[in-house]
Amino acid sequence: MKEKGYIMEKVVIIGCGAYMDSGYGCPGEWRCLKAASLGQGNFNGESSVVSFVRCECPGRSLVSNVGMAIRLSEIRPDVIYLSSCLVNAMPSCPYSTPQEIAKALEEKTGIKVVQGTHDYH
Ligand code: SF4
Repeated sequence: MKEKGYIMEKVVIIGCGAYMDSGYGCPGEWRCLKAASLGQGNFNGESSVVSFVRCECPGRSLVSNVGMAIRLSEIRPDVIYLSSCLVNAMPSCPYSTPQEIAKALEEKTGIKVVQGTHDYH
C-alpha cells in the first residue's frame, strides 16, 4: 500500500490485436492490468492505466490511434507500454518489430516506450 499523496504513473498499454483475437487470454483480460495495478513486471510501481490501445494488422493506424487516445482522454501518459504478447509473440509480427513500433511511437509522442509489461504465464 502506497502512502496517501503517492502519484501513480499514468500509462498506456498497447496490445497486439492479432494475438488478442487468438484467445490466449492475453492481453486485455488481466495480465497487463494486474501487473500495472500491482507494480509488477516492467512497471515502475502501481500504475494507472489511462488507455488500452489495440493494434490492428498491419499496424498502419497504431501511432495515430495512440495519439488520438491521448488527445481524447486529455491525459498525457508518463510511459507507453507494448504488451508482453506483442513483444514476445511467436510467430512474431510480420509487419514491424517491437523496436520499430516503439521508435515510431516515441518519435510521434515524445513519450518513453517500454517493451513488455509482465512475466506471467
Ligand atoms: S500489426 Fe503486428 S503487432 Fe499489430 S496487430 Fe498485427 S501482428 Fe499484432
